[in-house]
Amino acid sequence: MDTVYDPKSFESDIYCQWESGGYFSPDFFPEGRPVFSMVIPPPNVTGKLHMGHALNHTIQDILARWKRLTGHRVLWIPGTDHAGIATQAVVEKQCVKDNTSRHALGRAAFVQRIWDWKAQYGSHIENQIRRLGDSVDWSRQRFTLDESLAKAVRHHFVELYNQGHIYRGWSITHWCIQCQSAISDIEVNHIDHAGSLWHLRYTLVSGTDAIVVATTRPETLLGDQAIAVHPKDNRYAQWIGSYVEVPLCGRTIPIVADDAVDPEFGTGAVKVTPAHDHTDYEIGQRHNLEPRVIMDENGCLSGDIPLRYHGLSREDARSKIINDLGDCLVQTTEHTVPQARCYRCDTVVEPRLSKQWFVAMKELVQPAIQAVHAGDVQFHPQRWESLYMNWMNTIRDWCISRQIWWGHRIPVWYDPEDPETPIVCVNDPEDPRLIQDPDVLDTWFSSAIWPFSTMGWPEKTTDFDQFYPTQALVTGYDIITFWVSRMMTMGIHQCKTPPFSTVIVHGLVRDITGKKMSKSLGNVIDPIEIMDTYGADALRFCLASHATVGGQDIRFSVEKVEACRNFANKLWNATRYLLQQPVNQVTNKQPLVHRDEDRWIISQWYTTLDAVNQGMEQNNVALVTETLWQFTWNNVCDWYIEMTKSRADDAAPVLGWVLSQLFIVLHPFMPFITERLWAELQAHGAQLSDKVIVAQWPMLDQSAINSELNNTIDSVVSIIRTVRSLRKQLQLKNKTQCPLYVSGEGGEMLTKYSLFFQELAGVSALHSGGCSGPHIPAVVSGYTLGIPITEATDITGHQKRLEQQANHTKQSLDQVNKKLNNPGFLNKAPERVVEDIRIKKEALQCDYDQLMVQMKALSHNV
Ligand SMILES: [Zn+2]
Repeated sequence: MDTVYDPKSFESDIYCQWESGGYFSPDFFPEGRPVFSMVIPPPNVTGKLHMGHALNHTIQDILARWKRLTGHRVLWIPGTDHAGIATQAVVEKQCVKDNTSRHALGRAAFVQRIWDWKAQYGSHIENQIRRLGDSVDWSRQRFTLDESLAKAVRHHFVELYNQGHIYRGWSITHWCIQCQSAISDIEVNHIDHAGSLWHLRYTLVSGTDAIVVATTRPETLLGDQAIAVHPKDNRYAQWIGSYVEVPLCGRTIPIVADDAVDPEFGTGAVKVTPAHDHTDYEIGQRHNLEPRVIMDENGCLSGDIPLRYHGLSREDARSKIINDLGDCLVQTTEHTVPQARCYRCDTVVEPRLSKQWFVAMKELVQPAIQAVHAGDVQFHPQRWESLYMNWMNTIRDWCISRQIWWGHRIPVWYDPEDPETPIVCVNDPEDPRLIQDPDVLDTWFSSAIWPFSTMGWPEKTTDFDQFYPTQALVTGYDIITFWVSRMMTMGIHQCKTPPFSTVIVHGLVRDITGKKMSKSLGNVIDPIEIMDTYGADALRFCLASHATVGGQDIRFSVEKVEACRNFANKLWNATRYLLQQPVNQVTNKQPLVHRDEDRWIISQWYTTLDAVNQGMEQNNVALVTETLWQFTWNNVCDWYIEMTKSRADDAAPVLGWVLSQLFIVLHPFMPFITERLWAELQAHGAQLSDKVIVAQWPMLDQSAINSELNNTIDSVVSIIRTVRSLRKQLQLKNKTQCPLYVSGEGGEMLTKYSLFFQELAGVSALHSGGCSGPHIPAVVSGYTLGIPITEATDITGHQKRLEQQANHTKQSLDQVNKKLNNPGFLNKAPERVVEDIRIKKEALQCDYDQLMVQMKALSHNV
């Protein structure tokens, strides 16, 4: 066995063994076992593994491996998303570099170019997933544009259309002039922007009176179709029904009364531009106003407008119109404008009237609301349920058409003779005269059916029969609205069952100060680099240790990964130590034992296993890592190995059994090192089955848990620790043995373990009862200890050292207190720093108190 733990030297090898051995497939296991299935949230095919993925995948893989070990046929389906707009943007950029464009190439050639791009780079993210150790079934890998998934998408569309849930209509949508596509409500960020409010005068046709309206977008006046006021606004009541002239156009438009107008805003009168504003569109619908389109898809003025404004960008049009308004511009005031920006390219989006395809959601979502109400689907933690419910209860129709080329093309055709009648069908129609709708579907339209399209739906496949619905969905909270809600809606609608019963929502991975990781802040930590340095197991264990049951955001630190690597190293060294002894008696059966320390480690093991089982059931991954860490580091490595060093060969079957059981339970968290060490045990003769990935999860043996023994040995351990530290303080040489007095209830019991005290704490003799002569005292686990003071004891030196230590601690404590009492510092320092100082203060105070107690006791006893 290699002396040094070097994860790089074996991780990829082990992954290959798992993959080629078929262990990731449910077909590896006999039918009749319970089933556990999940689908991966498909990363963008253009994606690169980031810390968020790493956390998400670690949690899923822990679940998958745990379920496999506990006897389930596990199916975890991997795949990638074609990510319409994002992928098209990547390839369009590449086109610009090559001095061409998608329009120059034409649709077919451009789409082919994206497929070529995918063939070359699409497997990048898949390989990164392999690095992390995902036990996904690659034989069932899917891509959202695969033929079978395309069929599912078409079938889904056609069904929804035939049932009346999909319609085509004019609508105001958010239009990104950069992405050249309509985008949905949730793809828009609303950001406040320091803008202006312009007050414009519209003269009444009859007479000389004028009405002043306030607007944040004067350039849209060319598309005005009315002035609106609130019906109860007395200032304007007498003018409702009158007509005014639109400045610069010479057109006349009516004054209408509508409840949507806020009398408090501006002058209480607003202009209505139905084709270029969401609210105005709705007002227009109520008052039969024809929408007048005055802007093209590039954000330039066009249509039936004065010639001098034709072709101007929206920005240029604004300055020219303000300039041209003359007396009609009454005043300009500063005003904060909520601006809608594209979440992908940050361009200000344009409300635009266009013909789009929609899913009518209100009726469709009802069963998905009901399923959560009834508890058929549960959110962990439960607080995310309210986000889901709010979204569903206020749902708007979903615009699903996108004016791009990369994606599922809408399965609708038109006869040029009758372009208003859509022909909707699953298969391409044979009539060559028919023209297909140029738009593609929103990427989320295919993601919404991912849990069943990946299983072959709408065909009645064996996979669908066996594995739908899935059991768990693991996701970040940022896509509950985009994705979880839509999968729920479509899953129940098409399959009559929710697509999963549990939604596990985890936090986001932030940097150590709590900031979001972003390129612009330069605080991004690349999981691949971390795995290169510390190994995949260390990264996984670290992320898992943060995956609390509350799903809080995570502050990621490299130091913590380093600590987890050290933990793996500890495991490696413990195994190396074991393998110096013969291990051919090691099996998966609990060995027969006669000694207390052996009974103790077995008892501790089952106590640990019990806690692990409960933690896993409660989805408390962080607690499980903590439990396993404590057992491995403290019980096994620090104490059991120490206690049995003098009879290592005799203890080998016990240590071997404990470690092999531990490997199984640690496997979901640290799959690579546990598989490797399992193989080492086998190579040295241990009788262990196949591979740890398919081992049997240990059975809990309650009868082997002996809490009395646990407590007793825990006390022995604590006393040894204390004696060691006292010896250090007294600067006793290693060879110098000293007697030890222990008093307290059950103290005589401890004499049974004299040998440990002798070997591990240099105790020459253990006496039950108090020490009557001068001694150094200490209290631990309810026992009072005494080390007699002899000529060899450097008592003055000890007192001096305690004093020095106390002074030193006092100084640090004063410094910390000074900081915490300084309001200037408290106001400026980041919360995190202040919190760290508070923790430091508590620790220092505790040390100081301890030292004072010792000094006081010493002065009494000498
Ligand atoms: Zn955009």
